[in-house]
Amino acid sequence: MHHPSHDPECIFCRIVAGEIPSKKVHEDEHLLAFHDIHPWAPVHFLMIPKAHIPSMAHLGAEHAGLMGHLMTLAPQLAQAQGCNPYPDGGFRMVINTGAEGGQEVHHLHVHVMGGPRPWSKG
Ligand code: AMP
Ligand code: ZN
Repeated sequence: MHHPSHDPECIFCRIVAGEIPSKKVHEDEHLLAFHDIHPWAPVHFLMIPKAHIPSMAHLGAEHAGLMGHLMTLAPQLAQAQGCNPYPDGGFRMVINTGAEGGQEVHHLHVHVMGGPRPWSKG
């Protein structure tokens, strides 16, 4: 099952299509969330749009609903994945954009990290 904007060369599009396995945290019509393969923190998952949007630099007004959905869902998923409650717990969200922003996979993704310190990074 391919999303209309599937890029066959893109690793995260291949995860959306089920061609590469992932440990899923959440899936709905527009979003997928799955565990990062190299976690930095006790909880570390990625949230991605199913559509192939390469980065934050590619967003337009037409993506406001999608990104609003992602941002408002994140705290619920973080809690469900074991992040402790605010304010003593909490979580960190990171969106790397472009080479100078540290982006390695060019399909928009939001890192959500949490759990007790210390973390291996961040
Ligand atoms: P970045 O593009 O630097 O924001 O980070 C890409 C992230 O994707 C890294 O944290 C990787 O560990 C993660 N990653 C790469 N391939 C996979 C995969 N097949 N499944 C889960 N996470 C992945
Ligand atoms: Zn993609």
